[in-house]
Amino acid sequence: MVFVLDQKKHPLMPCTPKRARLLLKRGRAVVHRVQPFVIRLKDRRVEDAALQPLALKVDPGSKTTGITLARVEQTEEGVVHHAVFLCEVSHRGEQVHAHKVTQRNARRRRRCVNLRYRAPRFDNRRIPGGWLPPSLLSRVGNAVTWAHRLTRWSPANRIEVERVRFDTQLLQNPEISGTQYQQGARAGWETRAYILIKYEYRCAYCRKTGCPFELDHILPRSRGGSERITNLALACHGCNAAKGNQTALEFGHPEVEVQAKRPLKDAAAVNATRFKLVEALRGCDLPIGTWTGGRTRWNRARFGVEKTHALDALCIGDLAGVRPGKLRTLTIKATGRSKDSRVGIRCGRGRYAA
Ligand SMILES: [Zn+2]
Repeated sequence: MVFVLDQKKHPLMPCTPKRARLLLKRGRAVVHRVQPFVIRLKDRRVEDAALQPLALKVDPGSKTTGITLARVEQTEEGVVHHAVFLCEVSHRGEQVHAHKVTQRNARRRRRCVNLRYRAPRFDNRRIPGGWLPPSLLSRVGNAVTWAHRLTRWSPANRIEVERVRFDTQLLQNPEISGTQYQQGARAGWETRAYILIKYEYRCAYCRKTGCPFELDHILPRSRGGSERITNLALACHGCNAAKGNQTALEFGHPEVEVQAKRPLKDAAAVNATRFKLVEALRGCDLPIGTWTGGRTRWNRARFGVEKTHALDALCIGDLAGVRPGKLRTLTIKATGRSKDSRVGIRCGRGRYAA
């Protein structure tokens, strides 16, 4: 889709590329920006246009953040989101980190090399509260930059963000989470999201990573094992099949039983970068809805949506359906502002790395 602005540069509803071509050909519009394509109508004011509700949806990731614009439709079953614009921003966390290492090495040289003594000019040896490493802060900056841009080019009226991986409310008390069926279908997905993080995306038995995982019952269900979160471990297909009807102890892995009993530390569940992102997005002055990754995964499985970062963003929220359409995803690569990392990662008032 093509973004459309009115004659005063206020956003209108996006249009199809075909319509944009016609408008340009007839001289009713001019090109405002090339990538992503934005046109400006010369004869239209936003007051005379009919706008539909649009949601800006952000799925933060460590390497890539998916950002999607969706038209919100109210149906009898609930809310249906139609994709209008899909993009993926790839971050430069490793580059920022490399710059910081270079900077640190230069600083260390200055400290040990035989230079004349200079008194410190100011006392800046303190880390402020809410500090994030620059490599993580750059991710926040990238996402916020594009959120700001998209709200400038489209009449988005709310923001939906995936703030946490799983819903701690649904898992809060493992003693009652045996009643999985009473909690509805979503609880299972929140459990999966929790177990994946708890076992660090590795098979609990052979430590294999990067393969399809299964939820393994430490005390098998056939022997009265429960669906409680303390009875679940992450296993690859091979280990799950080999373990069969044995407990983890009988299978030769007593450490898995110990780890399963240990609750996941809050720090691992609560991702500081995501919280910072939500705080930064408040600068857009739009209402923000925050959701869990478990719900996103559940939606994606229910609606049969392909797994990409942009489509993940589309699946965020309390939805009755999504219509991904046949849009192409715009790939955006964050390049930083300058070769100097001190400038590139600045995230102050209104200035973000892009
Ligand atoms: Zn395994």
